[in-house]
Amino acid sequence: MIVYKELKKEILTACFQMKEYRLISLSGGNISVRAEKNRYLVTPSGMNYEDMKEDDIVLVDGDGNLIEGDRRPSSDLAALLYIFKHRPKINAIIHTHQPYATAVGLVADKLPACLVNLIDAVHGDVMVAPWTRSSDIGMGKLCIEYGNEANAIIMKHHGVIGYGESLEEALFSVVYLEEGAKTYCMARMMGTVAELSKKEVMLELSGMEHYGQI
Ligand code: 13P
Ligand code: ZN
Repeated sequence: MIVYKELKKEILTACFQMKEYRLISLSGGNISVRAEKNRYLVTPSGMNYEDMKEDDIVLVDGDGNLIEGDRRPSSDLAALLYIFKHRPKINAIIHTHQPYATAVGLVADKLPACLVNLIDAVHGDVMVAPWTRSSDIGMGKLCIEYGNEANAIIMKHHGVIGYGESLEEALFSVVYLEEGAKTYCMARMMGTVAELSKKEVMLELSGMEHYGQI
């Protein structure tokens, strides 16, 4: 029996953090992690995070076959697996319905990298992918088609897909994206938003080597 107890604990903690940072309500969104080659841990479909336990997180293979667990996996499974398959460096995906970033997607084609937190955590402009039905593999296809070097993409009329090489990186991406999107929304209400040039964005990114603990 394959267990991944520690990893399931980390996923559950990240679920509570999504809620704490107001990125989702009740059972919205989901988290998935590449546990090893062709094995993915995915949160269950439609379960309120407050009721979720470690063993509700299911293990599937790359074709979506259930390997371990008693719950139905996220309804977005096909889209999530599509992203893992096409972006081999991505090991964690956090899907949210975070209101500020989603609001930007309703009025713009991208959230420009105009704030240092946004650049540091998300790494660039956050593109807006056109709408497709939720729970459809098309969500994943559009994320690959419209995604750029940033660690997140906004899905029009739906929410955000944030990712990273680790779960922590994916969480930083969606949380700082929401903070940046909130500031951007407020700035747009007051006037024209000042943007940073590509060169300035690159300069900010290069400064990240001095940030945090080694
Ligand atoms: P699941 O609970 O099935 O993952 O659905 C949540 C969601 O946000 C669908 O897009
Ligand atoms: Zn959703």
